[in-house]
Amino acid sequence: MIVAIDGPAASGKSTVAKLLATRLGMAYLDTGAMYRALAVEALERGVHLSDADALTALAHEVEVSFEHESGSPLPTRVFVDGRDVTREIRTPEADSAVSPVSAVAGVRAAMVDQQRRIARAPLHTVLEGRDIGTVVFPDADVKVFLTAATHERARRRTIDMLHRGLPMTQEDVQARLESRDLYDTTREASPLMCAPDAFEIDTTGMTIDEVVDAIIGLVEARR
Ligand code: C5P
Repeated sequence: MIVAIDGPAASGKSTVAKLLATRLGMAYLDTGAMYRALAVEALERGVHLSDADALTALAHEVEVSFEHESGSPLPTRVFVDGRDVTREIRTPEADSAVSPVSAVAGVRAAMVDQQRRIARAPLHTVLEGRDIGTVVFPDADVKVFLTAATHERARRRTIDMLHRGLPMTQEDVQARLESRDLYDTTREASPLMCAPDAFEIDTTGMTIDEVVDAIIGLVEARR
């Protein structure tokens, strides 16, 4: 079974998808982490973020992988060709670089191949991203599109950043989220959009458990 969780930045995808995978005993794949890892590698190698050919070549050349502790569906570390980039992919620099990198059609083709391979290896997988229900797995068994009011997403992300030792003002976080969303929704290649057959859930006034329970209800109905 494939469960697709899409939505804009900081809509709650990661928290919800991880809890779902744990509660349902499914594998978990964070496709955003893969684009982030590639963006960080591009910065590391000095590849220009407007050089689509070089970014495409890089996406075909490198392999993004995840390390799991035994028995857990949740990865503890992310690697690009064996280099640990777990912390680097969550910095404001990575936030700024990832959208231009992920907008390149050749990059997406390479990443989507890797994502399908990783997700099909186990029997059941929860994937989170922007184009899971529209492009990566258009036949996913359950498709969910999470949204939340922009100020609420900014509030949640500001708390995340503080916990990671990267304090920023909520205004700054909101401006960055809005600019990433604009990039992601207006790009030509697989723009962020709700699949016509996805269940859209506005999480603004909901607790995490309410969102997870609602999705588990959808999964149970498909089993
Ligand atoms: O989910 P996260 O915010 O970590 O994703 C980082 C970025 O990666 C997004 O802003 C988007 O540009 C890109 N992305 C994408 N397609 C996906 C997942 C992420 O384009 N399936």
